[in-house]
Amino acid sequence: MAQLTASVDIPHFDNMLRARLRALGAEIREALRRSDTETYGELAGRVHDAEEESLADLLTDLNLAEISREVQEVRDIDAAMRRIADHTYGSCIDCGDPIDSARLEAYPTAKRCLACQRGHELKFAPTRPPKL
Ligand SMILES: [Zn+2]
Repeated sequence: MAQLTASVDIPHFDNMLRARLRALGAEIREALRRSDTETYGELAGRVHDAEEESLADLLTDLNLAEISREVQEVRDIDAAMRRIADHTYGSCIDCGDPIDSARLEAYPTAKRCLACQRGHELKFAPTRPPKL
């Protein structure tokens, strides 16, 4: 089903996502450097050498508690950039409606409109309050 994304300023959000990805890459490298085990040091080198786009792939198989939040965000950003490439960015993956631009400003990785996100979180995480 074709979804209208004309109202979404794609280059703006693309820039936001790329900037966030670079910042996260730096945070992850720093976290790996701080933990001075040999494994982490080697991983830091691999992360350092990784292209921006392959960072998510590299981190996908890692299960490092220290950076799990950052890794999850890298995955979210990677998914958002795929939606930009697919021209579905800014459309809710559940109902297809445009996602409010204020919501995208606050959460550029948002993949659902507010109503669907609330429904999703009620269904899968009933104890957690919905994100904006
Ligand atoms: Zn929706």
